[in-house]
Amino acid sequence: VQIIQSPSEMQCVARDLARPMAFVPTMGALHGGHLALVSRAHDLVRSGGTVAASIFINPTQFGPGEDLQQYPRSFDRDCQLLDTAGCKVVFAPAPEAMYAADASVTVRERFLSQTLCGLARPGHFDGVCLVVAKLFHLLQPDFALFGQKDFQQLAIIRRIVRDLNFAVNIVAVPTVREPDGLALSSRNAYLSKDERQQASVLYRVLQGAADKWRRGDVTRAEIEDWMAAQLRQAPLARVDYAVAVDPATLQPTSDLTCPVLLAVAVFFGKTRLIDNYLLP
Ligand code: AMP
Repeated sequence: VQIIQSPSEMQCVARDLARPMAFVPTMGALHGGHLALVSRAHDLVRSGGTVAASIFINPTQFGPGEDLQQYPRSFDRDCQLLDTAGCKVVFAPAPEAMYAADASVTVRERFLSQTLCGLARPGHFDGVCLVVAKLFHLLQPDFALFGQKDFQQLAIIRRIVRDLNFAVNIVAVPTVREPDGLALSSRNAYLSKDERQQASVLYRVLQGAADKWRRGDVTRAEIEDWMAAQLRQAPLARVDYAVAVDPATLQPTSDLTCPVLLAVAVFFGKTRLIDNYLLP
């Protein structure tokens, strides 16, 4: 795998890559979820094209007091995994190479980012929008793959692509889970043994709520209260949100309609876990 650190070199190399090119942006600390994106990328480009990834712990999407310094780093292992997975290029810039000290232009989404995780993490999605726009400019991918686990991020990125006319197809990949249902996440490494054990509550509650919604005997308020109460059954869990929203707008859904996105965010200690369930 070719490792590229310089943004201008990335821009040059990208022009000569075999097309179509599928791009998997990550913050590293790779796990089976990331590798599912790479695998799907290969399906999209078949044998003729290129799969590229980025490893960049983007400082602008971390708020003050968040885990930027502690975020798990395993660069050499990540490159090996990407190499084995058939990835041809890894873009891994230093933060100073990506952001001029006096940078004064940004990209901001003003609707979908104002709810759910946007409320608990002000500025987070501004950082995501900016880095994704920059990465798309540098790599000019034909496809870019994102996990459904970060549903709000996916929705916002689709909006950037639509509203700023990026010529990239956004591909969503289903969430990869541990055997007990916990969504794979680089942040799971922060969990203590007890927290890890209790963290399976997120997906259990989402599945239970999805069953109730399918049966059609609950209002939105009832299902949201039920999810929050069930999550609180885990003694170490602190619920940030547990909601039923319209997946297109991320606004509260009407009662008893589909599609609906059931979405939860739960703190275990300082670790914030998110998960969701889409009923199409
Ligand atoms: P991250 O490195 O956490 O920024 O994630 C990079 C990409 O991997 C994002 O598109 C995530 O949505 C995706 N991703 C993270 N966890 C999972 C998972 N468990 N299953 C599928 N995709 C995931």
